[in-house]
Amino acid sequence: MNHEQSRSLYDRALSVMPGGVNSSVRATRPYPFFVDSGDGGHVVDADGNKYLDFVMGYGPLLLGHDLPKQVQSAIQQRASEGPMYGAPTEVEVELAEFVSRHVPSVEMTRFVNSGTEATVSAVRLARGYTGREKIVVMQCGYHGAQESTLVEGKGDDTSPSSPGIPSSFAEHTLTVPFNDKAAVHSVFEEHGDDIAAVLTEPILGNYGIVHPVEGFHETLRDVTEEHGALLIFDEVITGFRVGGLKCAQGKFDIDPDITTFGKIVGGGFPVGAIGGKAEIIEQFTPAGDVFQSGTFSGHPVTMAAGLETLRYAAEHDVYDHVNTLGEQLRAGLTDIVADQAPEYTVAGTDSMFKVLFTREGPDDQTGHCEAGCKQRPDCPRYEYCPKNGSDVKQTETERWERLFWPAMKEQGIFLTANQFESQFICNAHTEEDIEKALDAYKEAL
Ligand SMILES: *Cc1c(COP(=O)(O)O)cnc(C)c1O
Repeated sequence: MNHEQSRSLYDRALSVMPGGVNSSVRATRPYPFFVDSGDGGHVVDADGNKYLDFVMGYGPLLLGHDLPKQVQSAIQQRASEGPMYGAPTEVEVELAEFVSRHVPSVEMTRFVNSGTEATVSAVRLARGYTGREKIVVMQCGYHGAQESTLVEGKGDDTSPSSPGIPSSFAEHTLTVPFNDKAAVHSVFEEHGDDIAAVLTEPILGNYGIVHPVEGFHETLRDVTEEHGALLIFDEVITGFRVGGLKCAQGKFDIDPDITTFGKIVGGGFPVGAIGGKAEIIEQFTPAGDVFQSGTFSGHPVTMAAGLETLRYAAEHDVYDHVNTLGEQLRAGLTDIVADQAPEYTVAGTDSMFKVLFTREGPDDQTGHCEAGCKQRPDCPRYEYCPKNGSDVKQTETERWERLFWPAMKEQGIFLTANQFESQFICNAHTEEDIEKALDAYKEAL
């Protein structure tokens, strides 16, 4: 593969953009390929190389790169009528109605411009609503680039995970390991009266893919209710992907108080949203007192793209298609891993997948999950499958990033560039694409 154009573009980019990119995960080694265009389930780079794309914009592209006609024409019409106005538009109401109709816990929605903005606003809302200051997050959970959740450490011994964040932010953030019910109980025993909310992804999607163990979400729901705290599901990645239009909360049958959305709900344009029970969401200004505002919020082009994308998914068998391919891919990967690297873990559900380079596995593989770890206690892998972000951190991340990822790229397969972020199947992918991907894994693992 020739990468001359990308190399020279990156050279220019390094002079004018920090690290040569606008989002840190894009700075793949030694330099990223620059995308020229998308093509169905593929992307084409500046040198004309074509890759089977499982990054899908890091999650937003449910339908792939060629948007169906109804989505395209809605976007173009909106853009041609003047991009935005600073006054409300019907399409915002329509998308909010769509979300309320399909997501069980959501009665009202405030749209914003990124997943980060959604989680920032959700945390402020929970604090404003409860009059409490502390929040509980999962160690290694990801909620965007926000001060209150960029923390490291355990329990109440936390500190900011980035320079530039005052330590006073971390003082109000408590952490527990994902899937650790005992830690949840103990943090509430000690701090229950001060906790405004627990904020978690329903499935970790930014630190490996980690499925909840049985009863974990129920524990969060019960404990928060008991202590007068809110449960916030961060469905920025799982929303309208896992569990289809009902989202992960529908799949797991959990009723969170607040849900944050992003990615798919904007149909490929910048978006975030905070949804939930009317009584809570109405605390946002101007209905209530918790300040929330944004020049671009509810942007008509974004709303149209999100609405038509979701309508298209509702009217076609999009989720059947991507979930079936996901199942096939994960099942194929499970076979390859059993043969070539039995210590590795195949993770994922619906249209999310990842092979985690775990260092140990059981001797006997009969009876383990056939298409992605579901944390079944009777599975022989159960003790070995990562239960939380720190477990994923212990995997062979260097091998993944330095040997495996480039080997896949050279075979024309575009994966997320490190061990941690999820990968996605889109509606434009085909069975042949899955076969091609499996051949490449067989070669590269
Ligand atoms: C992507 C993501 C975010 C951040 O969204 P941005 O749009 O990148 O700000 C927050 N939470 C989760 C779970 C995400 O996957």
